[in-house]
Amino acid sequence: MSEKAQAGQVVLKVIESWGVKRIYGLPGGSFDSMMNAIHLEKDNLDFIQVRHEEAGSLAASAEAKLTGRVGVMFGSAGPGAVHLLNGLYDAREDRVPVLALVGQVPQAFMNIDYFQAMDEGPIFDDVAVYNRTATTAAGLPKLIDEAIRQAYAHRGPAVVTIPKDLAWEEIDAAVPTSANYYSDPVYPLPVASKIEQAAELLSQADRPLVYFGMGARNARDELLELSSKLKLPLISTHPSKGSIADDFPAFLGSAGRVATKPAVEALSAADVIVWVGNDMPFASKLVNSHQKIIQIDVDAQKFGKRFADELSILADAKVALRALIDASPELPGTAFYRASLANKQNWEEWLTTFANDSRTPLRVEPIFHLLNEVSKPDDVFLVDVGNVNIHFARLAHLTPNNKWATSGKYATMGFAVPAGIAAKAEYPDRRVWTLSGDGGFAMLNEEILTQVKYNLPVINVVFSNRTLGFIEAEQRDDSHQPLSGVLIQDADWAKVGEGMGAVGYSVNTLDEARAAFEAAKKLDKPSVIDVNITGDMPFTTMYMHLSDHDDPEAVKEFQAKYEAEDLRALDYWMEQAK
Ligand code: FAD
Repeated sequence: MSEKAQAGQVVLKVIESWGVKRIYGLPGGSFDSMMNAIHLEKDNLDFIQVRHEEAGSLAASAEAKLTGRVGVMFGSAGPGAVHLLNGLYDAREDRVPVLALVGQVPQAFMNIDYFQAMDEGPIFDDVAVYNRTATTAAGLPKLIDEAIRQAYAHRGPAVVTIPKDLAWEEIDAAVPTSANYYSDPVYPLPVASKIEQAAELLSQADRPLVYFGMGARNARDELLELSSKLKLPLISTHPSKGSIADDFPAFLGSAGRVATKPAVEALSAADVIVWVGNDMPFASKLVNSHQKIIQIDVDAQKFGKRFADELSILADAKVALRALIDASPELPGTAFYRASLANKQNWEEWLTTFANDSRTPLRVEPIFHLLNEVSKPDDVFLVDVGNVNIHFARLAHLTPNNKWATSGKYATMGFAVPAGIAAKAEYPDRRVWTLSGDGGFAMLNEEILTQVKYNLPVINVVFSNRTLGFIEAEQRDDSHQPLSGVLIQDADWAKVGEGMGAVGYSVNTLDEARAAFEAAKKLDKPSVIDVNITGDMPFTTMYMHLSDHDDPEAVKEFQAKYEAEDLRALDYWMEQAK
């Protein structure tokens, strides 16, 4: 007779067979049978008890972003399930595989208006790439295996709802896994004539550049080689920061609002753009009909989606860029290339003028200057949503050995602290920082308790300016409306952290900041560093007035507002580079 085991335990063994190391969640009555399985499997699979299911789902999504491996979470029937939605949407929008196990009341009590017995299928229909309710205990492990396959295949959330009684049942203990058969997709080779056309377009261009995204994350060497051989400035989407070291002279940063000045100006001035592995959601606002775009993507649905392509190349970024390098002659470099590099240098020098600025409330530049000084090239950063994205994009100096993640396209506040749990659990030997505004930190800061419970020495930095700054800037600059609903109540986050068992630091001066950063990095427990920063909004890349073609009064006003007298527009550097 074959060996027997509880269905819930076989479910977990299937999950383990895919290399999963941990599962995030908070128990509820409908999940008791699975909690029993989690207990039985405690030597093989770590359970991280979060204090809110949303945090568990964000941690699982963050883990998938950092590792590429499926992240696993659970929630119990009703509210526990609904709380998972935020992290599931985060995973879907940033295209990472996650699995949610959702509790359900026993089958006999389903669909008869019983306590917490929601019709869970429709709740997850929109978010999930695969969404099923188990109907037999014997089929449950195979269903989990299928869900994980679907999560990888469609790069998004798979959801399996498990009626409580099924997971208790004794079934065949054999583990039905297909993990060994999984392989990364193989993409078509680029069409040679298109590569030749692309090479020709680039060699004829006056202002060519490369704009890459997450799809080019495995093509670092090719990006560097293409840039060096053809003298092309590189710009990236925000989540792709770090693919190329920030100090590579031709890497200008990201475009848009979470952006640097040299990248925004270069993108708007470019005549030919190699647009590779990049699905930037604001793309239609950043390009114009005179620009010729060579789009490289593995997904044919992306061609023509946000702008008209001059050339669409269906291929893996690495392969297509290699072919483009081989098909292209070395180029001498345009005035645009030289001007873009000078423009970046001018921007970096301008940012550096604030590096030791000790005015209070503090500017963010000296805080990031400190962070760059004390952090190591393999530190991990989890960045919340809001102005902190802008600061991180401009001021953090990353190398390709650093890791970082944010909530990129879904852009949910509250991401960083739960993501810090996942990062420290995954990389116990690397230093882990969470960087949040006071808006985002307020949302899921109860997870400091989880960091404390599992002895995860994460350094949590909170930038407190008592406003939802990203939205304040939008209301001021985009819609020119009175500030509405953005000012938020202050709190002493250092004390809040202390109340939960972390070490808290309140920072008002640069000296206090230095002392806090130095002390926190030596701790073997979590810390919360609450930095009181200025309410002034960051330099805007959306409405710049720095050019000789702008109204001189507007230029003066703009320079005075941002203390930007030393910044020059790209057209100034173009003149110099001729
Ligand atoms: P994805 O959306 O993951 O797209 C990757 C693309 O690569 C897809 O088209 C995919 O099909 C393709 N691909 C995958 N694999 C391969 C392969 N092997 N070869 C080729 N192609 C491949 N970002 C900005 O850049 N500027 C902003 O101003 C900005 N503002 C933001 C504001 C906030 C508050 C936040 C939180 C985020 C912001 N973002 C900004 C991030 C933005 O919302 C998106 O997350 C980001 O632009 C998406 O990056 P991506 O296109 O590189 O990644």
